[in-house]
Amino acid sequence: MRRLNLKSAQTAHFGMIRDINRQIVLNYVRDRGPISRAEMARETLLQRSTVSAIVDALVGEGVVEEIGKGESTGGRCPTLLRLRVGRPAVIGVDISPTYTTVASSDIAGTILEKRQFLTNPDFEKTLSQAVEYVVELGAKGSGNIEGVGVVLPGLVDPLSGKALYIPYFDWRDLDVEQRIASATGFRVMIDNDANAAALAELWFGSPEVSETRDFILVFVSEGLGTGIILDRQIYRGAAGGAGEFGHMIIGQEAPVACSCGSYDCWEAFASGRATVARYARLIAQRDDATQLTFAELIERALQGEAEARTALLETAQNLSIGISNLIVGFSPELIIIGGPIARAWPLFADVLSQIVQRSVRRGLPSARIIASTLGERTTLMGALSLVLSVKFTCDVVSTHVTSFA
Ligand SMILES: [Zn+2]
Repeated sequence: MRRLNLKSAQTAHFGMIRDINRQIVLNYVRDRGPISRAEMARETLLQRSTVSAIVDALVGEGVVEEIGKGESTGGRCPTLLRLRVGRPAVIGVDISPTYTTVASSDIAGTILEKRQFLTNPDFEKTLSQAVEYVVELGAKGSGNIEGVGVVLPGLVDPLSGKALYIPYFDWRDLDVEQRIASATGFRVMIDNDANAAALAELWFGSPEVSETRDFILVFVSEGLGTGIILDRQIYRGAAGGAGEFGHMIIGQEAPVACSCGSYDCWEAFASGRATVARYARLIAQRDDATQLTFAELIERALQGEAEARTALLETAQNLSIGISNLIVGFSPELIIIGGPIARAWPLFADVLSQIVQRSVRRGLPSARIIASTLGERTTLMGALSLVLSVKFTCDVVSTHVTSFA
């Protein structure tokens, strides 16, 4: 039970209850559809007329559609409902250190069309190409685009809509939200890759993940970040910058500098760049390995190359140190390993689990550790989730239901 905060508590008025009921019905259609009005009324204990009025409104808005008749349980066959699929409703922009992907999806998160280009180190060029594709894909939404979700690999402030620092390209203090919003006319939401990937797991992950209340996603790409989901929402902290565990100090003299410049941070020991640096040292005589991307190194490890596997296992050991600390501090139900490293999960899963089990202090609960099931789509799904999560929740539900507890 949460303690009531009188500064933010509001008594329940009719409009608020109506909003909450609408979100409940919408989420029933999303998670249980195809489903009938009668079934929802039975399960939610809402009056049948209330459910019908909400469904009629959602059908009118083009969010929900009727798809024919279900089986009769005595009496008339009920009309089944599902989310309206196949119509562009959201645009996702996933800016990664290598590629930028722009995609449209329907309200169910099914990707409809995709455009991709090499991310240009010149922010203005990347921005204008992304905007061009957003406009192109958005035009096919015939005025039904809910918004544009943008994911960037660095320090992002979702509240101000600014990318504060993107280390790969040395981009600083960019007003990404405002720039894309004014160029396209759409509502824009931005976040960093790890938070967005965690949100994607919550909304599109396997049932094992999406039904979990508290979990932490450890996103290992060229860098390393964490997205913390507490009570089924992103934990952002007081200033919105929570989850920067990539900068937790876990040692000294790491193989590479962290994106913040330090050689002490978890990212400097356990990121893709750290893995590539280890690999480059192992094969120093044979190849100019420092030019490899992390994804290419993982491919070599999967193909059985001994040095690539050695480098990856050393990274896994360093990953496990940070993960042990997260488990001791948060006691989450689940830790998810996401990003390009997830592909190589079978190669290092045992190392990770063994070390974490050993290092989590005796008597304290451990957590299950699994690989993301979203694969390479994680951050793009995260971009879409930034918009969809707002559509399927509302501030009324997330902040004020608390006040009734
Ligand atoms: Zn750092």
